Amino acid sequence: MTSEQQELQRRSRRFANEVILPVAAKHDRDGTFPLEVMEKAHQEGFLTPLVPKAYGGQGLGVLDNGIIAEELAAGCMGIYVSIFVSTLAIYPIITFGTENQKERFLKPLCSKFGLASYCLSELTVGSDPASMKTTATLQGDYYLLNGTKMWITNGGYADFYLVFATTDPQKKHKGILSLIVPSHLEGVSHGEPIDKMGQRASNTTAVKFDQVKVPKENLLAGEGEGFKKAMAALDITRPMIALGAVGVARSAMELATQYAKKRIQFGIPIAQHQAIQFLLADMAKDIEAARLLAYKAAWQADRGVKNSKEAAMAKALATDVAMRVTTDAVQIYGGMGYTKWHPVEKLMRDAKVTQIYEGTAQVMRLIIARQMLQEVERVAPL
Ligand SMILES: Cc1cc2nc3c(=O)[nH]c(=O)nc-3n(C[C@H](O)[C@H](O)[C@H](O)COP(=O)(O)OP(=O)(O)OC[C@H]3O[C@@H](n4cnc5c(N)ncnc54)[C@H](O)[C@@H]3O)c2cc1C
Repeated sequence: MTSEQQELQRRSRRFANEVILPVAAKHDRDGTFPLEVMEKAHQEGFLTPLVPKAYGGQGLGVLDNGIIAEELAAGCMGIYVSIFVSTLAIYPIITFGTENQKERFLKPLCSKFGLASYCLSELTVGSDPASMKTTATLQGDYYLLNGTKMWITNGGYADFYLVFATTDPQKKHKGILSLIVPSHLEGVSHGEPIDKMGQRASNTTAVKFDQVKVPKENLLAGEGEGFKKAMAALDITRPMIALGAVGVARSAMELATQYAKKRIQFGIPIAQHQAIQFLLADMAKDIEAARLLAYKAAWQADRGVKNSKEAAMAKALATDVAMRVTTDAVQIYGGMGYTKWHPVEKLMRDAKVTQIYEGTAQVMRLIIARQMLQEVERVAPL
């Protein structure tokens, strides 16, 4: 890390310890959205890290953002994911948006507090977004948008939504475009927060678009381009989710290590039993491996190197590690780990969904295998 990145890490860790951790358990218990934390995250620049300085953002890179991700998620992944999703929604505008769109949508999010959402999934369409049913029909100078998106993080709080819709469901991915849809437009509404197993501080809702007239100038990516750009954004953000999962795993490992040194069974701290040491050692090596793979995928993204395979590898590895490490942390705590008296059960619940959103563990393996098979064909004989 450069000295700037080390300072960013210290600042992020301080924010996690002083602002996120003190309220994490309460928001998890009540399933409430931590608006006050979000506003402070805005003041720190954590909501717009990738936005260039010219538009009032931080002008940071993907690896920098990954450093923030690990630290904030070590405080609470539910709170971090609410911070993160704005970046997922605005990254395509940074990269593909017109000057006019950047002025209208990036600048306001940097100058005053606001949130954005990424609307790809639907109730019947998750891993296979090319089969989406939400439609956008060009009518003169606006697109008429109809459909309901599901599982939308920040759905109830977003100032605007980045919405993927199809001009014709028969065309599959070739019919998909993306539109920037301000939440105040007539016909936009959202459902009640979904009651979730984990990451309960994040706000997840359905978002409905009923005959919404979206001005033509809000088109971010035209027919066919929308799908490619949705996928390109995920190559950038998957290393961040991977590093968020590393943060969750790290917290579980630290707690389990402290507990194992204090808990006495058979007259000695359980940390002195080799079986417990092996669990702790596996946690440490797997976390380190996941972090380094995610750093590589982020580093590639910063250099404009195609990283779909590495981003999928990092996301698959880190989220599996988070699930395993948090489960083993509960094991090390024994019965205490299975109660709400200690935070490890929350970490285990929070880890689970990292294997589901931003592409499931299975879909990550499909992406890895697809690219491997292409690469093997290209290997020249020795
Ligand atoms: C808390 C939360 C927040 C979310 N936030 C957002 C958001 O902000 N924006 C957004 O657009 N979406 C969001 N999502 C949706 C998320 O991306 C989807 O849930 C995810 O892509 C999986 O889709 P699905 O739930 O429809 O599962 P399905 O696609 O129905 O998958 C069910 C199971 O089948 C497996 N499967 C599916 N296809 C294959 C295949 N070809 N080969 C092998 N296995 C397969 C999956 O891996 C999974 O195990 C969120 C979800 C949750 C739970």
